[in-house]
Amino acid sequence: MLLPRRDVMRSALALAAAACAPTQAAPQRVRFVGYPFRLGVASGYPSATGFTLWTRLAPSPLEEGGGMGGTGVEVGWEVAEDEAFGVVVASGRIGAFVENAFSVHVDVTGLRPGRWYFYRFMAGDEVSPVGRSRTAEQPGQGIDRFRLAFGSCQHFEHGYFAAHRHLHDEDLDLMLFLGDYIYEATWGKDLVRAHVGDEATTLGDYRIRYGQVRTDADLQRLHGAVPWLMVWDDHEVDNDWAAAQSEHLDPRFLERRAVAFQAFFEHMPVPRAWFADASKLYGSVAFGDLVRLYMLDDRSYRDRQACPRPGQGGSTVVTEAACAERLDPKRTLLGSAQEAWLDQAFGASKQTWNVLGQQTLMTSGSRGVGGDRTFWTDGWDGYPAARGRLLESMRKKKLTNPLVLGGDIHAAVVADLRLDPEDPSSPVVAAELCGSSITSQGGTPEESAQAMREHPDVRYANGWQRGYTVVELTPEAAVARVRVVDEKRVDSGIETVSTWRVEAGRLGLTPG
Ligand code: FE
Ligand code: CA
Repeated sequence: MLLPRRDVMRSALALAAAACAPTQAAPQRVRFVGYPFRLGVASGYPSATGFTLWTRLAPSPLEEGGGMGGTGVEVGWEVAEDEAFGVVVASGRIGAFVENAFSVHVDVTGLRPGRWYFYRFMAGDEVSPVGRSRTAEQPGQGIDRFRLAFGSCQHFEHGYFAAHRHLHDEDLDLMLFLGDYIYEATWGKDLVRAHVGDEATTLGDYRIRYGQVRTDADLQRLHGAVPWLMVWDDHEVDNDWAAAQSEHLDPRFLERRAVAFQAFFEHMPVPRAWFADASKLYGSVAFGDLVRLYMLDDRSYRDRQACPRPGQGGSTVVTEAACAERLDPKRTLLGSAQEAWLDQAFGASKQTWNVLGQQTLMTSGSRGVGGDRTFWTDGWDGYPAARGRLLESMRKKKLTNPLVLGGDIHAAVVADLRLDPEDPSSPVVAAELCGSSITSQGGTPEESAQAMREHPDVRYANGWQRGYTVVELTPEAAVARVRVVDEKRVDSGIETVSTWRVEAGRLGLTPG
């Protein structure tokens, strides 16, 4: 359980107190050692009536405890129709407590569908930066154009967040982050900045890591400008973890996972309900009749990676002959409950576009040819039966215009996704767009060329440049632009390197 019961109760009491004894309550004499909103503000998970607002009081985010004393502070919040807060349409007070690093999550309701709002927080005499968020359109409410972007893998040491600065200027309706928001450890070459602390293992470590990443001005601005949806991948906890198992079979891994999850929640605009007892991070969000998004968690419920090295967990690379376990039809990547939910949700969708936000490449990433082909056991290639069930569910439920988005592999990939990605005669069932990394180091042009050569379904592959992908949805078409930066330069420009189109009602990608 992430939120200590006590905290839930105290938050509930604080809310109840705010509801019955509002504005004339004696002003608190709260003083901070510095500006308490140094981590900015954020919003996420829009519905037709609201969204979740986030902030965390941390005048010294790089210190254990964030520079906060005491056990709790009352925080006010306001949502307005205008940036000057002339028309405040929702407001309240909530407690920020030491148990949750003085973070605040407000699930705002009662707003009007399909419009933008402004929000801010107050604590003591201090006021946060103003954030901007939007509600979703309700069913039947038309949407001419919806623009989303997705990113993943932002190793703080590997580069600057120029990608986030440019994402801020993309006029987005929604930002998706598909995992590796932090990295627990240092790796790679040509590092441009340094983590505070070594490998994160404790609650204090993870909090400082999130705090440091979120001090980045470009990332902070993007969080404040547009609502986000997010899922985690492995590095929010530890490389290659699988459900209750860690890469090195740490017997205390579940304790580490629990504190890593808690720190994630403390820093993300995720609704309280999503995290209540089971750390559930999968679910669906819809915008009118145009688009439904399914955010999936492929880490928490998976079978461990097939054929691990002796005495180890984690991933490896195997041939078909060397690892029969990989092909076991019972193996799962999403877990049975999430699979069943998704199958049901596919059947219920009425939206034109159905977008899966998940962690990794879904089409085949095998290397080599014939019997010598090798498969990486951490991605969908390590769980081909589970992949088959998901794609078959899409087809059986006649899911309209599925788009599969992913990250993790530090390469932008555009692919026609077949029911069986290893069989070129099997039908195309979806379009796949895997995003590059925001900063994390990738591969070489030669490796990308090899992937395209060995997989004709892979229409585009770019593992040597960092960036993100923007997808513009209309009732007629989806247009995806792969955008790249030079992550080693703070002032990097932005460039579109590839553009792809999917016509509504027609499967398959076309250039341009
Ligand atoms: Fe990554
Ligand atoms: Ca990853």
